[in-house]
Amino acid sequence: MTPAFTIQALSGWGRYPVELCHLFRPEKRSEVAATMASGLQPSYISRGLGRSYGDAALNKDAGVIWHALLNRFLSFDRASGILECESGVSLAEIIHYFLPRGWFLPVTPGTKFVTVGGAIAADIHGKNHHKDGSFSNFVLDFHLLTPTGEVMRCSPASNPDIFWATVGGMGLTGMLLAARIQLRRVDSAYVYVDYYKAVNLEDALATMEESDERYDYSVAWIDALATGKNMGRSVLMRGNHAAGTELPARLRESGRGIGGNSGVPLRPPWNLFMDFPSGMLNRLTVTAFNTTYYALHRTAARQLVGFEKFFYPLDALDHWNRMYGKRGFVQYQIALPQASGRAGLRTILDRMARSGRASFLAVLKRFGDSGPGLLSFPMRGYTLALDIPAARGLVPFLHELDRMTLDHGGRIYLAKDAVLRPGDFAAMYPRLDGFRAIQRKLDPKRLLSSSLARRLRICDL
Ligand SMILES: Cc1cc2nc3c(=O)[nH]c(=O)nc-3n(C[C@H](O)[C@H](O)[C@H](O)COP(=O)(O)OP(=O)(O)OC[C@H]3O[C@@H](n4cnc5c(N)ncnc54)[C@H](O)[C@@H]3O)c2cc1C
Repeated sequence: MTPAFTIQALSGWGRYPVELCHLFRPEKRSEVAATMASGLQPSYISRGLGRSYGDAALNKDAGVIWHALLNRFLSFDRASGILECESGVSLAEIIHYFLPRGWFLPVTPGTKFVTVGGAIAADIHGKNHHKDGSFSNFVLDFHLLTPTGEVMRCSPASNPDIFWATVGGMGLTGMLLAARIQLRRVDSAYVYVDYYKAVNLEDALATMEESDERYDYSVAWIDALATGKNMGRSVLMRGNHAAGTELPARLRESGRGIGGNSGVPLRPPWNLFMDFPSGMLNRLTVTAFNTTYYALHRTAARQLVGFEKFFYPLDALDHWNRMYGKRGFVQYQIALPQASGRAGLRTILDRMARSGRASFLAVLKRFGDSGPGLLSFPMRGYTLALDIPAARGLVPFLHELDRMTLDHGGRIYLAKDAVLRPGDFAAMYPRLDGFRAIQRKLDPKRLLSSSLARRLRICDL
């Protein structure tokens, strides 16, 4: 049977850009192969839950294969915590079913509505990168459908070159069908969190540097609009998993967490059902929000916080991206190396604060060592993420930030990017040639492509 598709306007989470794509919705792994072999489209790209921000899971006027219906658990070893599942399983589904059994994700992003395939393809990082590295460290192996129709089992020991090209490879080496991942044993659904109010960037970085090793998780909300002696003022949130025995009796007996229900819903409980007017998140409103947020937080030790609130505060509101209005927004996330990172952060924050633009949600964290993934984003140093509304002049402004990032030896996260240029991209990813050589062998007829790949010429040899 000829695979069916619909023509749909799709976007990433930032809703910028929006493009017409030809969307396929396979329900079985065999249908993915049949679609790729059908000759219906000039090229194809995988799509998970569309939580990358820009155009990574878009393929303008060509094929997009949606993996979210391939969401079966295949096996679970309750002694070792090794889970085998299809690539469209979401992290929310994993937590929902396995947290009550005492297992959590080894690495999780700031939303649980991403698929295992998307997590591998972007080699995602979490608040524990400084200790545990990125998602690929916990991927034992995966099955990759390559453009020639072959299904390859890849692991760090078996087809390692393809494994390390695929993690972080943004879907351009093949379609992930299934993976085995190592879950993390936990004793409760709570984290003990220390909050620290840093008066400026120096204070925030010095505190992180001095204390991060004592925490499983460490992240900072940062006021990206503060200037002068307050530049970079932040609220640090650093936490460790709480042992079950440490919980107060009322929580132990509440039925939430291990042995009860996960307390982590499969769908967001609330929905932002309409677009805010574009421009509502502006310099004035964001400054007011930042001032209030900073004022409301106190330095406080050992606060017991539930998983949902600590890891996924934004997941409570479905479609929160509508706050930015129809024009959407860009999340600008950079990694900067340890040596030049402080200077780079200062330069970027200063430029941001002087730009007249508003960054509503800004996050700062330290990264540990980079992994072997050829296009993986993290590098030892720092990462800064800024949400910036799409408005006139945004693209040249971001190109200016790209230049500053490059000047400090940094790079842009492809899972968030919407505007980077090919030359800057190539300069930021020194292992690109190695990636291209493997990609070309796997995809001689160039059947895999995406709007991101074409914009950045990722696969051009
Ligand atoms: C609120 C929020 C917070 C976030 N926080 C973080 C964070 O802390 N750390 C972090 O690293 N990221 C973070 N992200 C980004 C997100 O984790 C990544 O973009 C992730 O890749 C999204 O997964 P997805 O299933 O939605 O994939 P999509 O966005 O649909 O696709 C992303 C990429 O993966 C590829 N892909 C998807 N499925 C497959 C498959 N089966 N086979 C091959 N390739 C595939 C696509 O082609 C595309 O290139 C955040 C995103 C949001 C919205």
